[in-house]
Amino acid sequence: MSPKRFMIAAVAGCLTMQFAQAQDAKAVLDAAQKAMGKLNTVEYSGSGADFTLGQAFNPSSAWPKFNDKSYVRQIDFDKNASHMHRIRTQANDPPRGGGLQPIVGERPEDQVIVVGDKTPWNQAIEVVMTPQGFLNAASKSSATVKKQTVAGKNFQVVSFAAPNKAQVMGYINAQNLVEKIATKIDNPLLGDMPYESEFSDYKSVNGIQFPMHIVQKQGGYPILDLNVSDVKANVPVTIQASNPPAAPAAPTTKKLADGVFLLTGAYQSLAVDFKDYIVVIEGPQTEARGTAVIEMAKAAIPGKPIKYVINTHNHIDHSSGLRPFVAEGAIVVTNAINKPYFERVWKDPHTLNPDKMAMMHAKPRFETMTQTKVMTGGDHTIELHHVDGTMHNEGMMLVWLPKERILVEADEFNVLPQAPTATPNPIHPYHPHFVDTLDKLKIDPQMIIPIHAPGDGRMVTKNELLIMAGRAH
Ligand SMILES: [Zn+2]
Repeated sequence: MSPKRFMIAAVAGCLTMQFAQAQDAKAVLDAAQKAMGKLNTVEYSGSGADFTLGQAFNPSSAWPKFNDKSYVRQIDFDKNASHMHRIRTQANDPPRGGGLQPIVGERPEDQVIVVGDKTPWNQAIEVVMTPQGFLNAASKSSATVKKQTVAGKNFQVVSFAAPNKAQVMGYINAQNLVEKIATKIDNPLLGDMPYESEFSDYKSVNGIQFPMHIVQKQGGYPILDLNVSDVKANVPVTIQASNPPAAPAAPTTKKLADGVFLLTGAYQSLAVDFKDYIVVIEGPQTEARGTAVIEMAKAAIPGKPIKYVINTHNHIDHSSGLRPFVAEGAIVVTNAINKPYFERVWKDPHTLNPDKMAMMHAKPRFETMTQTKVMTGGDHTIELHHVDGTMHNEGMMLVWLPKERILVEADEFNVLPQAPTATPNPIHPYHPHFVDTLDKLKIDPQMIIPIHAPGDGRMVTKNELLIMAGRAH
């Protein structure tokens, strides 16, 4: 056979195999649908725990836990809509890690997703990560199937390509029940992040098979561990799309002092003129926000490179805008415990949504601190201090500009939308601790810049912290 003829034969063989696989996948999906029963709508409820992605106490611990005292989820599979309502209570004692700890009493939370043409895949996927949602999505795609043995158990693994180009794989067991769904979604810090749902303790409810135990994981750690106690199959559900959040105010640049600029946004950053170069404090949120901060810093202090970006702590919302700084050639200044963490997660693939750092194969560079670090350049000094005894994040550091008496802090003092007039009851445990931390470091700020911007755009004073901490005179 000539090489060309061989190639044609090979391609034809490959196509036949794919066709056979598609046929097999359809048979497996049909068998699963028959065994599990058709769900047009479902309402399931129970209790358990959820965990907040990217808010661990330190780089080697799991996402922090919250009790779900109650949990109800309604799904309309025909309308591709979901409404989750849960009541959270505090789980960790002491309240270690982020996610707005501690919860005092009960905190109700809702998540509504009504999938439309413009719904980002990272939201639309929430319906797909359920057994019926997977069967529906796989049936509408050109799915394939292969046999796989996991821990001695045989599965038919049906997979299809999601709109984000990742494979979504459903593990269907010998009883034709979906036991697991695994895929990857884009995360600005973690790259192609694994997302898994596991279903066990299947029970028959009005002819429908439904799992009584649901565990979901993202980035390798649990985000949900739910014990289902009640299932209502094919009951009427009404899911109203929630109002889209108000568009955030356009970011602006505010001069705080000579050579010190506040770059506003929901998360605030600072740019400081170090004569030959710029130091930026915080690269938060996303690649887009990190890039915007870079542009604002360069516009405020023109003609100079950004040599350093200071990272207050490794939580996902505070470090997801660092990668564009690495692509820019900036050195990341962070606590020593974060360096191996960032080095590890930044090596993970970013193929689903390649960012500048991934495309440039940029290598991160670090300068680390443990207790104190002083940076000087031009007329400016920046002091970095570890927040000893922090409950929020083990590597937490505060940033202090002694000459300007400006304190920059993240999450140790998250301010109220409006300035407080009286001390709240109970007092948030972080606040008196933070006042003590400042006293110990002899830091007496004229101005506090919380990374999480006050809703009304006000300038925050030390007195506001003292009121919140019950220390105002
Ligand atoms: Zn945090």
